[in-house]
Amino acid sequence: MTLTFTTEPAVPRPAAERSALLRSPAFGEVFTDHMISIDWQRERGWHDARLHPYGPLVLDPSAQVFHYGQEVFEGMKAYRRPDGTVVTFRPYANAARFNRSAARMAMPALPEDTFVAALELLVSADRAWVPDRPGHSLYLRPFMIATQYTIGFYGPSAAYRFMVIASPAASYFTAGAKPLTVWLSQDYARAAPGGTGEAKCGGNYAGTLVAQAQAREKGCDQVVWLDPVERRFVDEMGTSNLFFVYGRTLVTPELSGTLLAGVTRDSVLALAAELGYRAEEGKVGVEEWRADAESGALTEVFSCGTSSMITPVGSVRSADGDWTVGGGVPGPVTSRLREELTGIQSGTRPDPFGWVH
Ligand code: PMP
Repeated sequence: MTLTFTTEPAVPRPAAERSALLRSPAFGEVFTDHMISIDWQRERGWHDARLHPYGPLVLDPSAQVFHYGQEVFEGMKAYRRPDGTVVTFRPYANAARFNRSAARMAMPALPEDTFVAALELLVSADRAWVPDRPGHSLYLRPFMIATQYTIGFYGPSAAYRFMVIASPAASYFTAGAKPLTVWLSQDYARAAPGGTGEAKCGGNYAGTLVAQAQAREKGCDQVVWLDPVERRFVDEMGTSNLFFVYGRTLVTPELSGTLLAGVTRDSVLALAAELGYRAEEGKVGVEEWRADAESGALTEVFSCGTSSMITPVGSVRSADGDWTVGGGVPGPVTSRLREELTGIQSGTRPDPFGWVH
């Protein structure tokens, strides 16, 4: 059964106000005129797909999401290209990951085509909100919450709502070029074997806030998560994945179940191979990170993710000591990959992978 969306148009924000908001977007705090909602009930499946004015939700306080955290989400961007067209990047990859997250949290799958149709509908309705400045974008936030009204914890919720909201985002370039200082989190773990680390669910993020605060206290920008068993290997960083560059070889931590399978990570693996680098998944030990940085064998480290794209990591701090990578300045492989990937998104480079939608 294909879902048809109904449309309830919003009274659009005046153009002058919108332009002012787009000039210096307060990412995550300003939203476009519309949102998408689709409901699911055990007896009916997905129904009531609609585009409607952005606004508060009315939910009973007993809704399961408030008590047991059954929630999953995605994050991706729409870009306005110099020729005026508006594109998204690999939306089916986000749709697939959304359903993997949903399966882990015992939530229903949303057909991938419906997920992508919802994004397309919101982006076309609120097209005027897609910034035209280079590097700026419209961040899209699809999410699903458990809406059955009961605080009984007997099993998965019998009702859910899928929604998409959108918020204009400024360029990541200015801040992005400055190498990050990262804190190795030895006191906290983000995930556990058999846990939810590879799902994009709200609870995974709530649990990281104290570690992020600790990183800031130590003068660092981000937390690096270690494997939760041996605490010897690198998993990922904050809300990004990590790559380690040894000359022309790139290594990224393998998908062990405790880190998120980033869409950017997957894209960098493919793109690096296409550009003639060796790109591998494997185990990266903290001791190795330090020793190879000190010997100079490890030439660059960078993080990658939708929000900050590709960002160099220059310095590492930990309870056991500090070190720098590649002299703490952005390296050529990091810069090249960032240029190529943003070039594919903005249309200044060919897209041999068919990633642009
Ligand atoms: N790890 C975590 C924990 C994240 O939240 C994100 C952001 N979704 C990433 C990695 C990077 O994923 P992506 O490239 O799909 O944005």
